[in-house]
Amino acid sequence: MNLRHYVRDIPDYPKKGITFYDITPILGNHEAFNAVIDQLYQKYKDCGADKIVAADARGFIFGAPLALRMGIGFVPVRKPGKLPYKNRCVTYDLEYGSDTLCMHVDAVNPGDKILMIDDLLATGGTAEGMVKLIREAGGEIVGAGFVIQLSFLDGDEVMHAAGVTHDFLIE
Ligand code: 5GP
Repeated sequence: MNLRHYVRDIPDYPKKGITFYDITPILGNHEAFNAVIDQLYQKYKDCGADKIVAADARGFIFGAPLALRMGIGFVPVRKPGKLPYKNRCVTYDLEYGSDTLCMHVDAVNPGDKILMIDDLLATGGTAEGMVKLIREAGGEIVGAGFVIQLSFLDGDEVMHAAGVTHDFLIE
């Protein structure tokens, strides 16, 4: 199955000159969605992770079913003000400005082995913020899986620079 076929390119979204890669056709097709989770499972079933950490919102869609399939926990990372218990947050630099990501203080504990999952790696800003958040909590990142990697952007180098081995299904 060619999974790229189930990613829809939306020109000029969310603003002019940007192409958005829409993953909802994957979700709407059982075979495609199942193939994504299965391919991620095959890549990561022996990675030794205790938990999957995934970012709001599309990271949840792929991270949660993969965690169930792998038989491990799931940790949601969200924007400030969204998680009800005590939060641990990191602010990280973006090309223009900065952003903040948070998780519950007891979600990742020292020594936890973490697999990061997100739908798409673009500039790597989000993934780098997640790396910082997980490491500040004492977690050890054993891998990072993305459904799509935009290889014309810097995400690949950002992951290398952070010392995180990553992989993806669609380029
Ligand atoms: P980055 O931080 O690497 O620049 O962007 C990746 C993050 O933004 C991911 O969490 C992803 O969900 C979201 N994102 C950015 N661009 C796109 C896109 O074209 N398609 C999708 N599905 N997500 C995107």
